[in-house]
Amino acid sequence: DTIGANLDRTAARFPEREALVEFSTGRRWTYREFVAAVDSVATGLLDAGITQGDRVGVWAPNRAEWTLTQYATARVGAILVNINPAYRAHELEFVLQQAGVRMLVSAQSFKGSDYVGIVEQVRGGCPGLERVVFLDSPEWEALAGTAADSDRLGEIRLSADDAINIQYTSGTTGFPKGATLSHHNILNNGFFVGELCGYGEGDRVAIVPPFYHCFGMVMGNLACTSHGSAMVIPSEGFDPGVALRAVAAERCTSLYGVPTMFIAELDHPDFGSFDLSSLRTGIMAGSPCPVEVMKQVIDRMGMSEVAICYGMTETSPVSTQTRADDSVQRRVSTVGRVGPHLEVKVVDPVSGLTVPRGEAGELCTRGYSVMLGYWEQPDKTAEVIDAARWMHTGDLAVMDDEGYVSITGRIKDMVIRGGENVYPREIEEFLYTHPDVLDAQVIGVPDARYGEELMAWVRLRSGAEVLTAEALREFCAGKLAHYKIPRYVHVVDDFPMTVTGKIRKVEMREEARKLLD
Ligand code: ATP
Ligand code: MG
Repeated sequence: DTIGANLDRTAARFPEREALVEFSTGRRWTYREFVAAVDSVATGLLDAGITQGDRVGVWAPNRAEWTLTQYATARVGAILVNINPAYRAHELEFVLQQAGVRMLVSAQSFKGSDYVGIVEQVRGGCPGLERVVFLDSPEWEALAGTAADSDRLGEIRLSADDAINIQYTSGTTGFPKGATLSHHNILNNGFFVGELCGYGEGDRVAIVPPFYHCFGMVMGNLACTSHGSAMVIPSEGFDPGVALRAVAAERCTSLYGVPTMFIAELDHPDFGSFDLSSLRTGIMAGSPCPVEVMKQVIDRMGMSEVAICYGMTETSPVSTQTRADDSVQRRVSTVGRVGPHLEVKVVDPVSGLTVPRGEAGELCTRGYSVMLGYWEQPDKTAEVIDAARWMHTGDLAVMDDEGYVSITGRIKDMVIRGGENVYPREIEEFLYTHPDVLDAQVIGVPDARYGEELMAWVRLRSGAEVLTAEALREFCAGKLAHYKIPRYVHVVDDFPMTVTGKIRKVEMREEARKLLD
């Protein structure tokens, strides 16, 4: 199936249901109106000379126009290129060149950054970029105001296996890579994520993560439009107070976020004043989901069916997900079981052999969700997808006898201290149980004697006393094996993060080296 055909079916079933709500501006579209708006933009793209396979970039925060462009490009078979709103000139230019973007839809500014100026700056270096359409300009109005031409749109022959999206990975571990995805990849993934969340036409999903990331555009938008649910955009960028206000005002049934977003919401000074009683479910994903935070999301936000999803951009993204009928213990401590029509296995990264259940190894996934490849990087693709089409995730995992998967960390983040493998995740989970600790991250730092030593970075709760390394080590003593107790403790206000809210341990390691010098 294609994304456009799927959207048409939903709109035919629920024409008067709300499809899209932009909370910050109050703009809203029913499914009938949404399809009409998508078809206008799609016809506008055809008028602009965009044809199947052309790359259309979107550089904008979460706005309704992002979503319209997403569906309009899929409708005409153009390849949507998601561009991270935090990018600056150098990175923007790289993506425009690497993906060969022909047309760019761009915001004029975001978070004090002048996008118009940046686009002008890089344009000379991107000869393939023929057209830039800024939002809130007459050009966008003309594009979006085009009279929809259903005959011309109907003549386009699309195949579900066509590439329709290039999504750059978060760049947590290095330079972002462009995962090329098809209708088949992401539409199915969005559908099954929504299915396992029990979505129907009564659901209203507060999509807090950025659209430029698969969490927003697949697990958010596509999960909604394939089930007739409403997409609610709380704000352009993340704001914990506005997210909570949007849930209350729009009676959202589901709320999304990476762990750091939920931590900020739960820690909001006015948390108690928001009526969150409409919430039934939601998704936490993107990085390790601390048990303590999951428990609070269930108890204090009332998200009794909340799911944890695990996945990566390269796999559309979700591979495993918890289900509402899993025990609470499993829902807070594992990433669930493999999704419908997908396979997972855990292998020894050296021998490639599948390890026994209960033992750690590299997680591999296979099935409809595996990307077509990294855009114009066949060598990089061959490093991660093997001849049997298994995607090697670079994540360490353990699968139990019943198929529940636990992620123990990234292979690159594992610390080897004095010959012992140490998984930072386990120590982070323990540090979260300290009453003064709001957030904790553990990294390895070079050490002459042990090869590597552990350093904990902690953010303290507001009003907490200063926490010394000694006090924290004492807290761990007797509860963690001696070699897992962090030697260094560094108290910070914030961790270095990607815009998707992922913690950049690479940067933490660099900074730690300077601190210890
Ligand atoms: P890059 O590949 O550019 O370094 P990235 O891997 O962070 O960045 P994404 O594709 O956005 O880019 O993220 C996928 C990764 O996020 C996974 O490989 C995994 O390490 C982590 N992740 C996602 N969900 C979870 C989860 N529920 N628990 C633990 N880790 C998760
Ligand atoms: Mg990755």
